[in-house]
Amino acid sequence: MVCSALPHQSDSDKNAAMFRFPAIALLLFFTACSGPADVHETRFIMGTLVEFTIIDDDRDRAESAIAAAAVEMQRIEDAFTIYGDQPNAVKLFNAAAPDTPVALPDEVSQLLTLALKVQQQSGGAFDPSLGGLNLLWGFSGDDAPSSPPPTRAIEDAMPPKHCIEHHGNQWIRTDRRCLLDFGAIAKGYAIDRGIAVLQQHGIRNALINGGGDIRLIGSHGKRPWHIGIRHPRKKGGVIESLDLQGDVSIVTSGDYERFFIYHGKRYHHLINPETGWPATKAQSATVIAGSATLADAWSTALFIQGADGIKMQQEMHQKALLVDDQGKTYGSLVRSE
Ligand code: ADP
Ligand code: MG
Repeated sequence: MVCSALPHQSDSDKNAAMFRFPAIALLLFFTACSGPADVHETRFIMGTLVEFTIIDDDRDRAESAIAAAAVEMQRIEDAFTIYGDQPNAVKLFNAAAPDTPVALPDEVSQLLTLALKVQQQSGGAFDPSLGGLNLLWGFSGDDAPSSPPPTRAIEDAMPPKHCIEHHGNQWIRTDRRCLLDFGAIAKGYAIDRGIAVLQQHGIRNALINGGGDIRLIGSHGKRPWHIGIRHPRKKGGVIESLDLQGDVSIVTSGDYERFFIYHGKRYHHLINPETGWPATKAQSATVIAGSATLADAWSTALFIQGADGIKMQQEMHQKALLVDDQGKTYGSLVRSE
């Protein structure tokens, strides 16, 4: 029997591929050849191709579970994005006058509380108030940038530290340059919600991969799920591969999908809050945490921190892999040869 290495590409996949290609950081290998068949579908959500893989005897159940999970994940994108014309609470908050209390929906309030906690724990490496800077750099906009913004514009867009405050059940931004941006945490949150919806449909063995943000449950047939962490500089290459099962969230942030080269230098979408410029200490950062939400936030934080951040991951009992700016690897996920 021949095991197919890649899933069948449906028409909707082909349409999705016409959009900006996703920041795929992790590669999936399909190696299970026996037991219930894989149900594999892809959808374009949150600016990336999201892959759903389910192992289940009941194909109809798996397909309706994926459909429901995709609806939930799209709902989260709509609720948290700062791009596009559709209003949402985050955009309203960002448009509110500084020092004006704004009520946020519970879901937004909860994710913001978590984001601010990671900001504090990471010593400011993770910063959910960089929306103005991120819009200025333009990596998530419709047209990919090809040169950095003027230094003066970057200085003008830098928000003061800790510019988001919680007052009773309302929130304020203390400065006009302070704009919420959930870009480094909402995808993980959406994946957690997607897995919860799959579980509500009775699914026990599944994997959702949102362009390098992965949560998996159960196993891949009789084997663990086999995950390859993408090599940040070798196209199509894998820097580490892992066999995982149970309930694992593993997320990679890298500088190799959303970037441009200008005068021989790489500029990418992960911004050092201290400087307003792309972080320079890493090529990629991978974290395994208790949820995809946390793994997403911490992979971004670790990328900004570089190898110095590995100690913090150990203290938090989170597994990690950091590839520094020279390509050197650090962390508990580095295979000891
Ligand atoms: P990806 O979207 O490629 O999976 P991340 O999860 O690391 O990568 O999120 C990157 C996004 O997070 C950027 O596009 C931007 O919106 C936002 N961002 C950039 N720098 C930071 C930072 N230091 N802290 C928090 N969010 C950031
Ligand atoms: Mg992230």
